[in-house]
Parts: sequence; C-alpha cells; structure tokens
Amino acid sequence: MNKILRAKRMEHVHSDIRGPLFIEAMNMQAKGIDVLKLNTGNPATFGFKQPKSIEDALEHHTADGVGYCDFRGMPQSREAISSYHRSKGIKGVTADDVFIGNGVSEVVSFALMPLLNDGDEVLVPTPSYSIWGNSVYLAGGKPVFYVCDEKANWYPDIDDIRSKITSRTKAIVVINPNNPTGMLYPREILEQIVEVAREAGIMVFADEIYDRLVMDGLEHTSIASLADDVPMVTLNGLSKSHCLCGYRCGWMIISGPRALTEDYKQGIVQLTSLRLCANTLGQIVIPAALDDMETPMSMVRPGGRIYEQREATIRELEKIDGLSFVKNNSAFYIFPKMDVDKFHITDDKQFASDLLHETNILLVPGSGFDWHRPDHFRLVMLPQAEVLSDAMKRMGEFLDGYDQR
Ligand code: PLP
Repeated sequence: MNKILRAKRMEHVHSDIRGPLFIEAMNMQAKGIDVLKLNTGNPATFGFKQPKSIEDALEHHTADGVGYCDFRGMPQSREAISSYHRSKGIKGVTADDVFIGNGVSEVVSFALMPLLNDGDEVLVPTPSYSIWGNSVYLAGGKPVFYVCDEKANWYPDIDDIRSKITSRTKAIVVINPNNPTGMLYPREILEQIVEVAREAGIMVFADEIYDRLVMDGLEHTSIASLADDVPMVTLNGLSKSHCLCGYRCGWMIISGPRALTEDYKQGIVQLTSLRLCANTLGQIVIPAALDDMETPMSMVRPGGRIYEQREATIRELEKIDGLSFVKNNSAFYIFPKMDVDKFHITDDKQFASDLLHETNILLVPGSGFDWHRPDHFRLVMLPQAEVLSDAMKRMGEFLDGYDQR
C-alpha cells in the first residue's frame, strides 16, 4: 500500500499558536517543568470564571437544545444577535440574516467557501489571526496580505490596500479590534475601507470578536454600521467577552443590499444545513450573554483584570532594552518589536524556542500571524498581573545579552 499523503491544499496551512513549540512546551510540562503559556487567548485557563449570567441561563434552560435545532441557529438566539447588532448601528438586519456556528472559527469557513472560486483573492491583514489566511487557502482562494502599519498605531494602510486590488479580488478582511496587535480602529479608517470596498465592488468580512473588550474610554464602531450599500459579513461570538471559549459559540450576520447577497446567502444555507446545526448548549446562553455587558466591561475598566494586567505588562516591557511596542487599547494582546540588529535575530521561531528553553515562557512568534519579518512576537496578557510582571522581568534578563548568531 502507498503512503497516505496530505492533500495539496494543506501546503499553506499553519497553526503556530498550537504548533511545534506548543507541543515542546507540553513535553516540558510532562517532565514536571512549570511552563507559563502565553500562547492562547483562552481566559478560562487563567482563572476567568464563567459569568453568573451564564450559570443562571443554563440553570433555567429547559429541554430545548436536546435535539438538532434550526441549521441557522436557535430562533431566540438569532433574535438576540440581530438585536445586538442593530443596537450597534447595523441597520435592518433580522434573525434571518444570522447564522450561528461552533465558534467564529467555524463560521469563517462558512463565510468564505460560498464566495470563492479557485484563485480568487481576499485581502487579509498582516499581521493577523491566522485562521483568515488559512481558511482562504482551504476555500480555494489566495490571501493577499495588506499591511497594518506599526508606525500608525497598527492601522490598516489604505494605500497598500488600494494597490493590491485586482480583478480577482472578492473581499477584504478587517479584524477590529485586531489580534495580534490589540488595536482598535477609529471610524475614519473604517470609512476609508468602506470607500475602497464600494469602489472595487467587493465584500467586507469584519471579525469583531473583541468588540466588547475595548479600554481607555474608547468605543467600538462596527464597520457594517457605516454603509448599507456594501455587502458585509460581521462575525462575533462569546469566547472572549464572556470567557466561554469552550462553548464554541460564534456567529455571522449578513448586511447590505439583500438583492446583491441573495445567491451568496443560499451558499451559506447549503453549507450550514449540511452540517445540521451548531452545538445547542453554546447557543442557549446567547440572549443572557448579550444582555450582560457588565461582564466584559468589568474586565476592561481600571481595576478590572484585563486592564490591570495590561498595565503591569507595559510597566515591565518598557524597561527592556531592544524592545519597542504600541500600547494596545483593546483585547488582551500586545505585539512587541525586537531590535533584530541588536540581537542578530534572523529567525523568530528560533527566538521563541530559545526563550522557552531558557525561561519556561511560551509565546507565539510574529510569523505565526502571517507577519513576514522575524522581528515581532505576541504576548497574551491573561495571567494575573504579578505573574505577568515576573514573566516580563525574566524576559528582560533573557534578552540582556541574547545573541542569535
Ligand atoms: N477571530 C479572532 C480575531 C480570534 O482572535 C479568535 C480566537 O482567538 C477567533 C476568531 C476564534 O474564536 P472562536 O473561539 O469563536 O472560534
């Protein structure tokens, strides 16, 4: 019998958040080494508890949810979702425009697959959470990376976006707030992206999973609230704002002129009905979660864990020679830059591996976020403030004298 080989489409797939370095960290842990894993944005593993609102919702739920539900999602949950997005200014959307899936991770594919023919292009940010680039490849398309500019608060570079539009471009992905930079985009930048999409006649995919985790008195604007003449898909879910990653609860909502998206939407119906339905327990809590904005707010205001953990991290990061960064204003990530000349760094994976073995700290190198230079890494600021302070001190000691040659 011949060897069973991976299909060609797997060639470009990469998952560095749980990649070889993560396996190495698990092996170290199995040997009794205490590894601080700053690789995944999974609040529950750092002691963030299930909110009381969710506990109550589960306690009071009846037997609905035992069988398969509507392939688009449970009606009361889709109602709650459409109402949430209308409250954010996305006009005219109803429960019929909502599709619930097993996390945003699943609905990303449901959004892309019905759109792309082989070789169609999608504009994807760099750096970006890599599910987007990966999923474009898996759907037969080609991700074309546009730059988010560190010198401009990591905002998308509009000229770069414009210069990369071709006759094959079908859509642009906007991750706002962004992972891995932790930056929120202002309305003016979003308006310019809308204008580009309008002129080019392309769709917008807006991944807004961190919209409720915004700090420093800033407010999130949904890009879909800025135009009702451009077809858009807005994605969101409960993994981060309500610390419910394991519930696998995410959704997408289609907005813009219905006449333009009718056929595309039929494609989503085909795909979602084929997989019967999403996990119902994750859906049952949606109305209660979207009624409970206090949970996310309490984490991001001064005194809240996410806010204070960021402050503690920044205080120590600032002291490290050879690192610079844009202070994040949302989510719980920061994407510092290393002085590659000082440390002679040519391989960011090697840097992360050296750090892991020397300090027992696991992080994800920038290349894991489709960033094409070896000069960045992402930190997850979810452990308690004192743990993060201590980790940053250890990183500083490690970098003091680090030379990759
Ligand atoms: N989109 C972004 C930007 C993310 O950071 C993540 C998870 O880290 C996801 C989507 C996936 O979320 P979910 O747990 O809903 O699948």
